[in-house]
Order: sequence, then C-alpha cells, then structure tokens
Amino acid sequence: MKKEALWYEKLDNNLVHCHLCPHNCKIAESKSGICKVRQNNNGTLYSLNYKKATSIAVDPMEKKPLYHFHPGKYVLSIGTYGCNFRCDFCQNHEISQTTLNGQMLDIDELIKICKSKPNCVGIAYTYNEPTIWYEFVLECAKKFKEANLANVLVTNGYINTEPLKELLPYIDAMNIDLKSMNNEFYKKICGGRLEPIINTIKKAIKNCHVEITSLIIPTKNDSLKNMEGLSKWIASLNPNTPLHLSRYYPAYKMQIPPTDPMTLLELKNVALKHLKYVYIGNVPGLR
Ligand code: SF4
Repeated sequence: MKKEALWYEKLDNNLVHCHLCPHNCKIAESKSGICKVRQNNNGTLYSLNYKKATSIAVDPMEKKPLYHFHPGKYVLSIGTYGCNFRCDFCQNHEISQTTLNGQMLDIDELIKICKSKPNCVGIAYTYNEPTIWYEFVLECAKKFKEANLANVLVTNGYINTEPLKELLPYIDAMNIDLKSMNNEFYKKICGGRLEPIINTIKKAIKNCHVEITSLIIPTKNDSLKNMEGLSKWIASLNPNTPLHLSRYYPAYKMQIPPTDPMTLLELKNVALKHLKYVYIGNVPGLR
C-alpha cells in the first residue's frame, strides 16, 4: 500500500522536494529518494513502505538496547525496509538496502498482540531505520499512546528538526546511534553528516528517555580520542545517559576483523570518566 508522504513540497515540472531527512532529496517524476522508499508519481510524493513490515518479534527491551527503560520487560518490535544511510558495515542490509514486499500491518491488531503478551510494555520501531517509515510510525505511535502503551524508536537520528518535533510527543524512549564525532566518518562510511544527528540527540534528550549506541569498528572509530570527545559531549547534555559500546563483526561491504574486546574495555574506561553508565554489547559474558 502506498500513501501520500508528509513533509514534502511540489515544485515545477513535476519535481518534488522531500524535507523528511537531511538529504532533502529533489526527486524527478517516477524516481525515488536516496532511501528508495519515497517515490514521485506524477508530481506527488508517496511513501512506498507504509504499513509494510518485513520483521515482527517480541524482544527483551535490553535487545534494543535499552537498559534503563522498563528493564526486564518486553517490547513488540517491528521493522520495514529501506534506509537513508548506506553504512558499509550494516548488519541488516538485507532489509535496509533493498525494496521488498512486506506483510501488511493493522495497528489495532498490533495493539491487541502487544496487550496479549505478558510483560510487553509497548512497541519498538527498529530493525531498519524507522524515521523513513514516518507516516506509519506517526500514526501507529499516536494509537499506541492512546492505548497507554510505550513507543520506542531505534534510530540513526538522521531526521530533520520539524518532522522530529511532530513525532517526539508520542515517543517514550529512543536508542540513537552515534557512530563517531567525525563528520568524515559519516560522509565516507554512512553517506550522511554528523550535525543533524547531534541536533536529534539534543532534542530527544529534552523530550524522552535516550540511550546512545556506538558501534566500535577497528581503525575507523576506535581511537581513545574519539571516545573521549564522544562521551564528554554526551555528558555535557546529561551524564546519566547510558552509552552502549557495541562490538563490530564483519558484515555487508566491510570485512575487517571483529573488534578486540580489550579495545572495548579500554574505551569503556575512557567513557566512564564522563558518563555514569557505559555498557559493552555484542560480546557474550562482557557488559
Ligand atoms: S526521507 Fe528519503 S526521499 Fe526524503 S530526503 Fe530523506 S532520503 Fe530523500
């Protein structure tokens, strides 16, 4: 099912200008934006993945990862396809870098499923980048809020300020990726920019519970200097913000060997100078 998109304007010659994320794509007739899920049909921009899910599961909240939001509880987790980033190391590239036919979702049915599962406190928009599923996420989040259930976003944070402001009142918790404090890293490896993510984190921290995840990749973002800057900056917003240092494994286009757990421990010690809660992820037996 396709739905007319929010956050775009019509230009001359059947062009459209999407303002949902900082790519701000100008899209010609019959073409899609960088995310591949917003398409110009005859001068109207449509969301192609509206209500389409490629993955549905009930996960522990800690798997998002959120350690300080309803610990020990569960969250109904859904994702669609597409992404506005092109990360070389993407672990979910089968759904993020493709267009698929997903299962059609019914929001009332999702609420019923959520309420029927023991200890399930709400829904998480996760697995691929949820902000490019904006029309569905906004609609679903409003209904979950009305039903007194929580909404969780697991996101790369690459969204423009105005759409974020409209969504935030319905969001209870976010896990936001902050992969590096180096703009070049975002440009070369992800196909994005650092500044919009910084803005998203600043706004989110004022409005809902936020935890940050940083995937640590050998030689790319594993320097002590980067961790010093990253943790210091998060602490300047709120030193109680939990930071998850996640171990990288080779995936998609990146084949350098996995991160040494000793590096993660070293970086954790650096981050703990500034932040109260720092966790290691993706290493069995280490936290
Ligand atoms: S949401 Fe998609 S179409 Fe819109 S600006 Fe971002 S990448 Fe481009």
